[in-house]
Amino acid sequence: MLTPPIGVLGGTFDPIHIGHLRPAIEARDALGLAEVRLLPNHIPPHRANPLCSSEQRLAMVRLAAADNPGFVVDERELRRDTPSWTIDTLVELRSELPDTPLCFLMGMDSLLGLPGWHRWQKLLDYAHLVVSCRPGWQPDYSVQVAELLARHQTRDIQDLHRQRHGHVWLCDNLPVELSATRLRALLAAGQDPKYLLPNPVADYIRRHGLYRSSATQ
Ligand code: ATP
Repeated sequence: MLTPPIGVLGGTFDPIHIGHLRPAIEARDALGLAEVRLLPNHIPPHRANPLCSSEQRLAMVRLAAADNPGFVVDERELRRDTPSWTIDTLVELRSELPDTPLCFLMGMDSLLGLPGWHRWQKLLDYAHLVVSCRPGWQPDYSVQVAELLARHQTRDIQDLHRQRHGHVWLCDNLPVELSATRLRALLAAGQDPKYLLPNPVADYIRRHGLYRSSATQ
């Protein structure tokens, strides 16, 4: 007997914003996720180091989670001193939660780039993939991603409850045209970020003087 699925959302969260949170809230509600785990990356394998410290990003993610029922923070990737490969995290979660379907949440940009991920073909052996639409990223699939969808896409929500892993779900979420890059630029220009991220996170950024200089873009 399986327990209800949980969502897992990894990210740099530099800072966390509504482009992360709205699709996750909609996935929680539409798919009946028992929980959404926010997993801040420590050493992002595919990108430059984040601007804020791990502690600051974690503090902001904690504030965002506290604001949303069912959201929890998973610090495991921050505690590692090796790269945060998603596959390693999913293997660990699978062994800790043997009877829980795992829904790995990602934006369309991540799905398009999936063939560049470490051991990407193994991801579906451990989790479902739940993909949110993201403005600027059209579903213009490479052959590899098109093949993945042909084999694994489902339109039946119950598949995400009946099986622990192995399906891809494309969300019909409200598109949110925001990136952390854009938000950092806005903050560096001294603009008010209200409604682009949770108020407690905006307060934290203000109190700690984060993202202030134009050098932080
Ligand atoms: P940056 O601009 O610094 O690259 P980002 O805003 O893209 O950051 P990440 O922390 O890199 O945020 O993203 C974590 C996950 O959230 C990824 O799977 C990404 O696709 C997804 N995501 C981020 N922003 C959005 C958005 N506006 N809509 C849908 N998904 C998003």
